[in-house]
Amino acid sequence: MFVDQVKINVKAGNGGNGMVAFRREKFVPNGGPAGGDGGRGGNVVFVVDEGLRTLMDFRYQRKFKAKSGGNGAIKSMTGRGAEDTIIKVPQGTTIMDAETDQVIGDLVAPDDSVIVAHGGRGGRGNIHFASPKNPAPEIAENGEPGEEREIRLELKVLADVGLVGFPSVGKSTLLSTVTSAKPKIAEYHFTTLVPNLGMVRLPDGRDFVMADLPGLIEGAANGVGLGFQFLRHVERTRVILHLIDMSGLEGRTPYDDFEKINQELQTYDPDILKRPQIVVANKMDMPDSAENLAQFKEDLKQDTLLAQTPEIFAVSALTHDGLTPLLQRTADMLAETPQFPVKQPEVATTAEYNFQPEAGFTLNQDTDGTWILGGDKLVKLFKMTDVNHEESLLRFARQMRGMGVDDSLREHGAKNGDLVKIDDFTFEYMA
Ligand code: GDP
Ligand code: MG
Repeated sequence: MFVDQVKINVKAGNGGNGMVAFRREKFVPNGGPAGGDGGRGGNVVFVVDEGLRTLMDFRYQRKFKAKSGGNGAIKSMTGRGAEDTIIKVPQGTTIMDAETDQVIGDLVAPDDSVIVAHGGRGGRGNIHFASPKNPAPEIAENGEPGEEREIRLELKVLADVGLVGFPSVGKSTLLSTVTSAKPKIAEYHFTTLVPNLGMVRLPDGRDFVMADLPGLIEGAANGVGLGFQFLRHVERTRVILHLIDMSGLEGRTPYDDFEKINQELQTYDPDILKRPQIVVANKMDMPDSAENLAQFKEDLKQDTLLAQTPEIFAVSALTHDGLTPLLQRTADMLAETPQFPVKQPEVATTAEYNFQPEAGFTLNQDTDGTWILGGDKLVKLFKMTDVNHEESLLRFARQMRGMGVDDSLREHGAKNGDLVKIDDFTFEYMA
């Protein structure tokens, strides 16, 4: 589980100013006060949009400002109240005050909403300030300033779409193509820190999280290698893209590959085969691919493992042919597929090591090999690290080294590329 988080600034609208004005009537030389009140400033409101899956929109816009109320006018007219500024966030977003860490709202239900910054009240016009002593006051209030605050949004992200397939069928290529096609996505921290997870954004605004699940090889379901761990990710994804190398260059038969991977999935958990699967016929730019695909379609008729015959998309991750319809259909399927209940506990930790050096951190190893770092001091340091910025991550890395975390990992046999987890954050160990 990864945390998508972003810090933004919100400013509610100011109240409109009250007015100083007097009645001007034909036969009344100096009428009474007639300046109206200002209107209310707009609130900044967060609402759940079930179509959103990530906080990616906030990469592009980090400041939100609601409109000010209208000023009061002559003839005691009140200024117009400003409309609220509505900001859409994915279900599951937690909104916190960035300075105090206080939770402002937890938008868990589909129709949840919360006002994060209140619009200012309108200032009073001079009609409110008249008194027997001062029947013609030249006094009016300005509108109250709208609230302004720095807030932090956090969303726990699970992969929506998982890529499965034999080694070298093109999973990494596909993921890097569809998640780095737009330069702004390349700077997204997931793409650099956790290379097997990426955000896909379609031109129509839909977005989803795609995970490359490498290491899925025969025997993986029995816990060999890293496979088991990645199968856990598969379990949570809602749509599976099953990549098959159609070139035939590796000397394997596409349909055999397809069956073997599905058997692996079934051995791990038969329910996984019930979720939507799309066959991605990759490497269609190669000479024999069209012929192999035709044969594959024939062979697919024998399939008994899948609940439904999968749709097939012929693509080339290399030349990008066919990717747009594939992604569109994937997004459609996601929209149609409800969340699956998660069966596994978050982390099935069986401690192999559990020692607490004086330095204030703990190190355990999960059954699947992931190193789990904990301890109040370390977790607090991590929580104070803005993982969106490389500089602050590097600082955290130095802090960890200073605490002896690197030494300890090495002593216990951590190798390059091992996964290390702190809180909700996973990264690769580099010696
Ligand atoms: P993974 O092991 O499934 O992640 O596969 P990779 O993405 O690493 O790809 C393995 C090899 O296949 C690389 O040399 C890629 O350049 C190549 N490859 C990936 N997609 C295509 C494709 O559509 N056409 C061709 N011709 N080669 C591809
Ligand atoms: Mg790969």
